[in-house]
Amino acid sequence: MQFDVTILGSNAAIPAYNRHPSSQVLNHNGNLFLIDCGEGTQFRMNKFGIKRAHLNNIFISHLHGDHYFGLVALLTSFNLNWREHPLHIYGPPPLEEIINIHFKHSQTKLKYELHFHSVLDNEAKIIYDDQVLTVETIILKHRLPTTGFLFKEKKNLRKINAEKIAEYNIPHHKIVEIKRGEDYINEQGKHIPNTELTLDPPHPRSYAYCSDTVYTESFVEQIKSVNTLYHETTFIHEHEERATETFHTTTKQAAKIAKLTNSGKLLIGHFSARYEDLNLLLNESKEVFPETYLAEEGKTFTI
Ligand SMILES: [Zn+2]
Ligand SMILES: [Zn+2]
Repeated sequence: MQFDVTILGSNAAIPAYNRHPSSQVLNHNGNLFLIDCGEGTQFRMNKFGIKRAHLNNIFISHLHGDHYFGLVALLTSFNLNWREHPLHIYGPPPLEEIINIHFKHSQTKLKYELHFHSVLDNEAKIIYDDQVLTVETIILKHRLPTTGFLFKEKKNLRKINAEKIAEYNIPHHKIVEIKRGEDYINEQGKHIPNTELTLDPPHPRSYAYCSDTVYTESFVEQIKSVNTLYHETTFIHEHEERATETFHTTTKQAAKIAKLTNSGKLLIGHFSARYEDLNLLLNESKEVFPETYLAEEGKTFTI
């Protein structure tokens, strides 16, 4: 099952060196989730061939403009493109007012249903839940209320061993129970254990998005063993003082979080406009956590 993330933007605050502000698209088996929506996000969606009709849920981490200034533009384009199916937005409470005031003064009447879900930064909780996936907030420490997002696949049902199902002549209506892990007792009362009828399902995968934040270990337990971690890395380690002052993180700090959480890989992003050469950041982070990758625009990473 497809589970990957495409980077649409990963620069901090000011666009620089052809790098754009934060946005990324998570693709879970064709279902798209947009995470942050910096200025010009829809241009990069076009450039990288993102099928926006498959996008039904947008998550905004906080209200610094580099994380949401592209949102009203995207919502307006959906309207002009005759979107009809509902769209859900998850973000800090004032975002609803910001959206509404744009539509009020432009006298825009949406042709699709827009559902706004207020996300609070007081405790981590599940804000999205479907048959295969949940999304939890991650409480970050920034100058404004900020949450990251933890996307977690649900535990898969067990895989049917087709040969054994045929061998024991198991009726079709029993398959769902067997997939859930139940044993089978046939008409003669013979007990067949589930382990004989099924195989282990694929391990559920997870993705944690952490932007923006000062260095904090407060969410380490929550995201332990995440397959892929995106952690903001605004500064090189030499600029640690500046990072702390502005509630941001350095390369080595982000890598330390990846190490502490035993993440499969680390994507670093939210690069300060002061750095033209991103290898500076990559190499520093790799010293602490070798499985580090630059979250550069247009790159897609398998979770
Ligand atoms: Zn930012
Ligand atoms: Zn910020």
